[in-house]
Amino acid sequence: MKIYDVVVVGAGPVGLATAIGLYNRGITNILVIDRTRAFRRVGQSIDLLPNGLKALKYIDFNTYEAVKEAGFKSLESNNFWRKPESTLRNLAGTKISSDVLEYDDWCRMYGEGRKTIGWYDLQTTLRKQLPADLVLANRRCVNLVEESDLVRVDCLCNAQLEANPYAYWQEHDPDDSDCEIEAIEKSFGAKLVIGADGINSTIRQIIYQDSAYAAFARPEYSGFAAITSSGIELSNHLSNKLDKIFLEGNSVATIINNSIAQKNPEKDSPRMVLFGRDRTFGYIIHLPLSQQELKQKSGQNLINLALKELEIADFPETLKELVARSPEYRIVKRLYYIHRASISDNISFPTTAELVSIDRDLTLDPTWNRGRVVLVGDAAHGMPPFSSQGANQGLEDAAVITNSIANLAAENNLDNTEAMTLAFLKYEKLRRPILVKVQQATLKQHFSFSETEKQKYNREVYSRNLEEAITALV
Ligand SMILES: Cc1cc2nc3c(=O)[nH]c(=O)nc-3n(C[C@H](O)[C@H](O)[C@H](O)COP(=O)(O)OP(=O)(O)OC[C@H]3O[C@@H](n4cnc5c(N)ncnc54)[C@H](O)[C@@H]3O)c2cc1C
Repeated sequence: MKIYDVVVVGAGPVGLATAIGLYNRGITNILVIDRTRAFRRVGQSIDLLPNGLKALKYIDFNTYEAVKEAGFKSLESNNFWRKPESTLRNLAGTKISSDVLEYDDWCRMYGEGRKTIGWYDLQTTLRKQLPADLVLANRRCVNLVEESDLVRVDCLCNAQLEANPYAYWQEHDPDDSDCEIEAIEKSFGAKLVIGADGINSTIRQIIYQDSAYAAFARPEYSGFAAITSSGIELSNHLSNKLDKIFLEGNSVATIINNSIAQKNPEKDSPRMVLFGRDRTFGYIIHLPLSQQELKQKSGQNLINLALKELEIADFPETLKELVARSPEYRIVKRLYYIHRASISDNISFPTTAELVSIDRDLTLDPTWNRGRVVLVGDAAHGMPPFSSQGANQGLEDAAVITNSIANLAAENNLDNTEAMTLAFLKYEKLRRPILVKVQQATLKQHFSFSETEKQKYNREVYSRNLEEAITALV
């Protein structure tokens, strides 16, 4: 069994960024493993915002430059998403607010810009910063075993992927011929294991099982879901109307019934992200629905459900007509889950959420570490994507934890579990408060923020001096 200083489980953006940070701080005896059978193009677009880019710059300047460059390329190759501004509109199409999206404008406001990049392009760019033999696909971690001075990381290769109810994309490659190959067991030894394996984290389940926090091992349903369709071909008449009222030459707009929010800021109602060009349109409707309401719904049933919710929220006929024309085979639902950043701070959820009820005796939040194992990114605090902060917050984790581990290594403390626990608790103490704020803003959307509140939140999240906070941590 090969022994590493650090094994990172999960080659998503956060696991890879962490590995790059460690490698560049001289911790080169590392391995990153991922359960995917082969790295392939999956995932959605990610907005990297000033705080995430600043964290990346702290982790490694060359990586930061490479990611920005890949972001520019991804935008050029996908002209459709070139949107000079992102607008928020009411049901009549009147602009409530708008944000410029140019990199330089954001630099002026927050000391760093923003970049849109595909998840896979981000993963590939990060992967290329590390020697190829340090990042292995086809290694699904299935168990961790604590041994005297290390952790044994048990993996399966060629294993059939078990269904992942929380997956953001289809994890099984239809070209894989899983059944023909037998699963092979493989183990690695690690002085330290980083669980960067996403919202349905195996590592989280392993460290919480048999503890008072076992109920928090799996993600909780946030109460929000998305119903989405693309590729809807419309008549000239309807497409002109949508363009004239809502898009006004942009390729995307978010539409809300702001009178509901004004009358009752506590009430959650649907928001539609409308996108389109020429005569082909699509939408993502984010809405508070219970899992029960969504159960076993697909095709026309899902279209009907979306129409009913839009009707209740008084959405105009043009938008309902768009939804009614969604091809049945293209309509998709996506449920959003969360790992609450805190169970002691009261984060408010819609009534449709299905959260674990908190035992009176649990006064402390579940820690993100146990012994030689620590969680980062979605595995620690996955959340719905409404504020575009999942990956950005994960990159902040990566910046903080690489620094903590580099300090442990510099002081020869990779065999000292007491020093490790202390370092991980400090990491968590720095990260948790901002995550509570971000999760709260995500759930009680910034759409209901006044301009002053919005500016305050943006400054807190985008302009925070992470480097200073990391330096103060030591
Ligand atoms: C529609 C949508 C839009 C989003 N938009 C944004 C945005 O604009 N900005 C933003 O910051 N965030 C956004 N996010 C969130 C963002 O995608 C996640 O927060 C981010 O990908 C988390 O990174 P991660 O590395 O922690 O986990 P992941 O990206 O989930 O990566 C985890 C990796 O671990 C691997 N893995 C899982 N289990 C195992 C195992 N047992 N063994 C080995 N490997 C394993 C997986 O294959 C995967 O490669 C969005 C999410 C969605 C769904």
